[in-house]
Amino acid sequence: MRIIGLTGGIGSGKSTAAGFLAKMGAVVVGLDKAGHDVLKQREIREKLVSEFGTEILGNNGEIDRSRFGKKVFNDRKALKKLNNIVHPAIDEVVRDKTEEYRRQGIKVVVFEAAAMLDAGRDWQVDEVWVTVAPEEMVLKRLSGRQGFTEADVKARIRSQITNEERIRQADLVIVNDGTLEGLRERIKTEWEKLQERLK
Ligand code: ATP
Repeated sequence: MRIIGLTGGIGSGKSTAAGFLAKMGAVVVGLDKAGHDVLKQREIREKLVSEFGTEILGNNGEIDRSRFGKKVFNDRKALKKLNNIVHPAIDEVVRDKTEEYRRQGIKVVVFEAAAMLDAGRDWQVDEVWVTVAPEEMVLKRLSGRQGFTEADVKARIRSQITNEERIRQADLVIVNDGTLEGLRERIKTEWEKLQERLK
């Protein structure tokens, strides 16, 4: 089984690339979504509340991600504390899924996450694929995203590692500065090359 870690900055196109890979036959696991699910676990919620206070909770008693995000993505120390609490639980999801897919004989698994290279994680990938897009394009593409202002996007970009750093760690760089069809074509080419490598 080949494990691909697909990462990239906010709005760089990793979910779109992951969607194309899924259509081509990969099993894709979105770790940002897994991270959101982890926030619903009672134990995690309690740890976060004791660290950050009840102000991170919404009226329903669950963590209000939008409110919490505004707090941590502007504050490096807070983000580190959040990661220290949440990452072990995400690591566990990765280990469980890896085990499950290996048992099932799956050939290619893609773990997709924004912060895969930013912080320590205790699991390995075989290949790191990175999507990058120019900042002005990211701002334009995300301008319609609900609950997200340009300032929020910029804060998120600053909270993440730089594209230079991602590229340094990448086995494959996908520059997503063209059309969606162009991205699909590139992913198709890389998928075909991967099939060759797996032979
Ligand atoms: P996030 O970190 O926020 O999850 P992401 O890296 O997963 O972002 P996507 O959600 O794939 O990025 O893309 C962001 C937005 O940009 C989406 O609305 C997507 O449809 C659009 N987009 C991605 N690539 C292109 C492209 N080449 N041309 C036009 N729009 C694009």
